[in-house]
Amino acid sequence: MVRSGFFFSCLMLLAIISLPAQAKSAATTELITVFDHVQVLPMDSDQLLLNQRVLVQGDRILAVAAAVELEIPAGAVVIDGQGRYLLPGLAEMHGHVPPTVDFSGMPARYLDDVLLLYLAGGVTTVRGMLGHEHQLRLKEDIASGKRLGPTLYLAGPSFNQHTVTSPQQARERVQQHKAEGWDLLKIHPGLNLEQYQAIADEARKQGIDFAGHVPEAVGIEQAIKLGSRTIDHLDGYMAALGGFDTPLTEQDMAELVALTKEYQVAVVPTQALWQTIIGAADREHLESFDELKYMPARVLSGWRRYLDSASGAYYTGETAAIHAENRQRLLSALYQAGVTILMGTDAPQLYSVPGLSLRRELPLMAAAGMSHYDILRSGTVLVGEYFADQDSFGQVRAGHRADLLLVDANPLDDLSVLYQPAGVMVRGQWLSRAELDAKLAEIEAARIAENRGR
Ligand SMILES: [Zn+2]
Repeated sequence: MVRSGFFFSCLMLLAIISLPAQAKSAATTELITVFDHVQVLPMDSDQLLLNQRVLVQGDRILAVAAAVELEIPAGAVVIDGQGRYLLPGLAEMHGHVPPTVDFSGMPARYLDDVLLLYLAGGVTTVRGMLGHEHQLRLKEDIASGKRLGPTLYLAGPSFNQHTVTSPQQARERVQQHKAEGWDLLKIHPGLNLEQYQAIADEARKQGIDFAGHVPEAVGIEQAIKLGSRTIDHLDGYMAALGGFDTPLTEQDMAELVALTKEYQVAVVPTQALWQTIIGAADREHLESFDELKYMPARVLSGWRRYLDSASGAYYTGETAAIHAENRQRLLSALYQAGVTILMGTDAPQLYSVPGLSLRRELPLMAAAGMSHYDILRSGTVLVGEYFADQDSFGQVRAGHRADLLLVDANPLDDLSVLYQPAGVMVRGQWLSRAELDAKLAEIEAARIAENRGR
């Protein structure tokens, strides 16, 4: 469907008139980039806008309008969008960012490689789910353009049985994380209910979200009622429902699904990773992933060690296929009930290579019955809503952060076009396919050189 119409044209004419004044202040320093004659999927609806011009200045989208209605400012850099589609950059809502300092023998360049891989996969926003020392500084350096990477929103260091000793100490830790500037409190297994309640209560007072795992002693129902901002991985549901080894019906899941909806808790399913964790993924298939070549040998051997040992708290072995099917059914039920689903893969973990792991996750979201449009929403507009108090992004719209993905076909028809974007813009910085390919080749070459040196 195409939306053009007189009403929208009028609105856009206003944008033309206001453009010069708006542009003037920064014009001397900040170049304007134009996506010309491009099809835009703005993500405020599933309607495509044909033959548009999208102007970007600094880190912001300046204007979006029909090409005939918007002049190209003198000196602008023009990117040809003919036959191409522009949509908001995607998000990894359960991602990890390696420490900034060298750790456990990782290559020194690993952190920058991970940041680049996210971008190459079209991921322009990452909710980092475990804070490390210096990571807030990294966030600042990326935001200010000193370092290339996706915009980070960061959970602080973990709340677990080792870092939390009492409800009172848990409250102090919440206050400390808020004061330090973390965006989220990261919950890990091992907390008791009293500690969890103290965290939830203090988080509400301090105005900071908490999310992550569901500790066994707390359980999914309490986690939802106490206000976990998201439920990640779905394992808390499986534990409560007995979904590890017995097929679940819609009826079995109905109550918890309704509760999730009632409390407006969002869900980050991370289905592909959990297929691997529970033992439902085919190892030969995992090893065939082309993107493994970008990961250091040390990371890969850790992943392989996990599969070799074939155990762990979540591994269900023989019943893994039932477990995996239950997880898909649950995602389907949550989606049908209108629960907010957010895109996430828990990269870099077990065969989830940053950014590129979306090509493993999105097909599973589709298999659970999510429409292509709603899958795209889970990584764009819904993420923008989630972080609405931080910034405006997640749509192709004037004033929004210029995080954009240019692709060669309509992603509403075929999601796989997202996996090889024609270019990615992050906070107004354009990375063409050629630049992305050159950087990816450099990472691959570094891995080969490292392996030769071992
Ligand atoms: Zn994680």
